[in-house]
Amino acid sequence: MSSIPTDDILVAGIEPESITDGPGVRFVIFTQGCPHHCPGCHNPETHALTGRGERMTVGELFDRIAADPLVSGVTFSGGEPFLHARALAKLAKMCREAGKTVMVYTGYLYEKLREAKNPDWDALLAEADILVDGPYLEKERSLDICFRGSRNQRVFFLSDRGKLDEKYF
Ligand code: SF4
Repeated sequence: MSSIPTDDILVAGIEPESITDGPGVRFVIFTQGCPHHCPGCHNPETHALTGRGERMTVGELFDRIAADPLVSGVTFSGGEPFLHARALAKLAKMCREAGKTVMVYTGYLYEKLREAKNPDWDALLAEADILVDGPYLEKERSLDICFRGSRNQRVFFLSDRGKLDEKYF
């Protein structure tokens, strides 16, 4: 499955000031649609790509993020954010230019995202400061790791700004 060719994002939910989805206070966008179907997923309502979610524009989301001075970064969670990579890459660029860091969760492995040579996926990776990869695996579930549900999920610090946050993981 590739990314959806639209400038809108299908949003399952928003957490405007989260301290549990990455370092600092973060505006979290839970995207709608996920092809991974991990057993034990905590957000099964985000799996369907039709009949659920609210379509929001990049500008609309950015205005909400920029209006809150407490927000130090944005987190794209899911669902599978890379289904919406084209629009999320645009939003991420705007957020970074406004001084926010960008953290992205994905059920794909980082290597698969790179190997796919998908221009939308590459665009989102280029705007990500921190990437958490891999599916949720119940047998690897742990409450002792920061910002991840299972031990198989890896954290990649993809920019100098992202590396500054390494101490929080
Ligand atoms: S990738 Fe995330 S949202 Fe998708 S099924 Fe797995 S745990 Fe659930």
